[in-house]
Amino acid sequence: MMSDAGSALLVERDSPNKPEKKKTKYDVIIIGAGPAGYTAGIYCSRARRDTLIISGILPGGQLMNTTDVENYPGFADAIMGPDLMITMRKQTERMGTTIIDDEVIDVDFRHRPFKILTASEEYECKAVIIATGASPRKLGLRGETTFAGKGVSYCATCDGPFFRNQEIIVAGGGDSAIEEGTFLTKFGSKVHMVHRRDQLRASKVMQERAFSNPKIQFHWNSEITDIQGDQKVQKAILKNVKTGENTTLAVGGIFVAVGHTPNKNQVELDPQGYIVLKDNTKTNVEGIFAAGDVHDHRYRQAVTAAGFGCMAAIDVDKYLTENKV
Ligand code: NDP
Repeated sequence: MMSDAGSALLVERDSPNKPEKKKTKYDVIIIGAGPAGYTAGIYCSRARRDTLIISGILPGGQLMNTTDVENYPGFADAIMGPDLMITMRKQTERMGTTIIDDEVIDVDFRHRPFKILTASEEYECKAVIIATGASPRKLGLRGETTFAGKGVSYCATCDGPFFRNQEIIVAGGGDSAIEEGTFLTKFGSKVHMVHRRDQLRASKVMQERAFSNPKIQFHWNSEITDIQGDQKVQKAILKNVKTGENTTLAVGGIFVAVGHTPNKNQVELDPQGYIVLKDNTKTNVEGIFAAGDVHDHRYRQAVTAAGFGCMAAIDVDKYLTENKV
C-alpha cells in the first residue's frame, strides 16, 4: 500500500561504478530512474553501450511512494516499492551503468552530440532515452498529504486489494476514474464516485458499465473538501458545489484519479503533454527515444514501464549500430 515519500532516502548514493574523475561523454544518457530508466540502463550496458542514468530528484520514481507491490512478477510475496527500486538500481549498476543523482535542468537536442545540463555538469551523448515518468495530479488537500499511503492512493491496480470489504471513494470523472472505480468494486463493499460536475468526461461505454454496477454510487457536483482519520483515513467531507451542502462519508480508502501530468520534455508532445512516439520508442527527434509513463497514459504500470525501457534500449542499440554515431 502507498506510503509517504520519505523512503527515497533509502537509495544508496555511492554507486560502485561512480567514476574517479567525472566523465562527461557517454554513448547513451537515460534521464529518469524509475522502472523504465533502470531497465533501459540494464539493456544498454549489456549491449556494451557506455551508459549514464541521470536519476532526477526522486530516484526510483513513483514506486518510492509505495509500500507493498504485489503485481511485479518475480516476487512470490509482496515486495516494498523502495526495496524493488533499490534492487533494480543495484542490478543496473552491476551491469555497468553509471548513475548520477542529479537533476537535468536543460537539454540541447538540436545538435550532435546531444548535450544535457545538470546543476553541476554538462554531459554529451549520442542517444538519449527519456524516462522521466509522470506524476498524478493532486486534489490539493492537506489530508491528502497526511494520509498518503494511509488510505489515500493514486493507483487502484496497485492498492485496490488493500481495501477489501471497505467503502471507497474515487475522485474524478474521466476514463481513469471510471475504470478505477469499476475495478475497485471487486474489493470494496461500495464505491462512491465523487465528481465535480453533473456529467462525466469518461467514454460512454465506460459510463454505462459504471451506471449499471450496483456497487457504485455517484455523487454529482461534489468535491472532497476534507479527509479525516486517526492513523489512517476514516472519513471524507464532500461539498455539493451547487447547494453548498456538506456530507460526511465513512470510508477506508480515497483514490484520486483526476489525471496525470507527464514530466516536462523538449520533443513533440500530444495535447495532454505526453511524448508522441513515431515508431516504437522513437520520438520526432532522431536519436531521442522515450520509455514509460512519460509517453504511456494507458497502462502506467511498473512492469509495462520496465518493458518500454527494454524496448527503448534495444532501439537505441540498433540506432547506434545502423548510424555508426
Ligand atoms: P482526464 O483528464 O480525462 O480526466 C480527469 C478528470 O478529473 C475529469 O473528470 C476532471 O473533471 C477531474 N478533475 C481534474 N482536476 C480535478 C480537481 N482538481 N478536482 C476534482 N476533479 C478534477 O484524465 P484521465 O486520467 O481520466 O484520462 C487521461 C487520458 O487517458 C484520457 O485521454 C483518457 O481517455 C485516457 N484513458 C483511457 C482509458 C481507457 O480507454 N481504458 C483508461 C484511462 C484513461 P472535469 O471533467 O470537470 O474536467
